[in-house]
Amino acid sequence: MKPMGPIPPYFAGQDVLTIAGHDAEHWIAQAGDTPLFVYDLGIVAERIARLRAAMPDRLAIHYAIKANPHPEMLAGIAPLVDGLDVASGGELEKALAVKEAALVSFAGPGKRDDELELAIARGATLNLESEGEAERALAIGERLGVRPRLAIRVNPDFDLKGSGMKMGGRASPFGIDAARVPALVRRLLATGVDWRGFHIYAGSQALSAAAIIETQAATVALAARLADAAGARAPHVNLGGGFGIPYFAGDAPVDIAAVGAALAETLDRDGDTDTDYAIELGRWLVGECGVYLTRVIDVKQSQGETFAVVDGGLHHQLAASGNFGTVVRRNYPLALVDRMNEAPGDPVSVVGSLCTPLDRLGDKVVLPLPRVGDVVAIFLAGAYGLTASPGLFLGHPAARELIVGVAAER
Ligand SMILES: *Cc1c(COP(=O)(O)O)cnc(C)c1O
Repeated sequence: MKPMGPIPPYFAGQDVLTIAGHDAEHWIAQAGDTPLFVYDLGIVAERIARLRAAMPDRLAIHYAIKANPHPEMLAGIAPLVDGLDVASGGELEKALAVKEAALVSFAGPGKRDDELELAIARGATLNLESEGEAERALAIGERLGVRPRLAIRVNPDFDLKGSGMKMGGRASPFGIDAARVPALVRRLLATGVDWRGFHIYAGSQALSAAAIIETQAATVALAARLADAAGARAPHVNLGGGFGIPYFAGDAPVDIAAVGAALAETLDRDGDTDTDYAIELGRWLVGECGVYLTRVIDVKQSQGETFAVVDGGLHHQLAASGNFGTVVRRNYPLALVDRMNEAPGDPVSVVGSLCTPLDRLGDKVVLPLPRVGDVVAIFLAGAYGLTASPGLFLGHPAARELIVGVAAER
């Protein structure tokens, strides 16, 4: 037997899994079949409201849409957040459909000229990833006769401790090394572009409030130092994100009240009063709102181990198989939707239908003995799920997606 992560509080303790007031089979009938992702916008709205209550008033909250770029999700979330952050021309188009361009920023290495042009022509902010990209953006602005909105993504000289994915403190394809930033700021200011400030993103999936607090303080201080060195105020500083969610046994949620209180102090102490600050979150906002529902096709025994074979797999939900950014494979929380509180039987491995041993969604987990036709819920499927999975691998059908619940006005 191997432990599972905690079922999110929105779904824990139920007998029959209910999402936005209806049981799982209701949503499967509505969507037509499994495998199915169901995303509850009500949960996202609740989390955004809770985050706002915890964070200083002057802090803007952005959504990093690569976590879940479904157009209906974007339409629901856009009115609840102060900005959208995108990482490709495709995401930029989606964001511009639901948010005014001035509130959209575009980061990511390897932006092509047509992507730079789209951002500049529409008035989105480019977070520049290199001096070369800066020069291309300047040339495009000149050619279009448009003053580009440009910020500099900084490769910080520190990383986010305890984060699942480190994004700073080393040689990096992301951002411009801090030491080279002041010269580029001066170059941009000399050309008369709409200089927007800094974007500093130090890591992802951190659960420790202490680590986030330390990183945010270091980020605010770095932005102030860079602005001083360049002799210019930064109109806007994007402090990055990095708030994790509990996926695995022993994980606990981020103490956002502690983070918010500390950030308020940091901004009061070290923040520039003329600067607007933002955080950009993906996973924390949407990860817990999603449930992946997949039906048991076969139950079999092999050498004393029970396997429940489901109609989904890693081609839809790669992360649950442990093959997306984790070193050691650990179990996501999962449950049988009709028997969430039933006493468990012997350990069972839940495997997907792909012909590869990688496709293991639950490894020797403790569940009631699954039967053919049962639906397995895999939680924490709202972020980096379908769009972060190798959907074409092995030619199985795509998963369905259903957006449910109401995103209440803030
Ligand atoms: C992916 C990404 C995010 C969101 O990260 P989460 O861990 O999902 O919050 C924020 N900013 C940038 C630049 C990113 O690339």
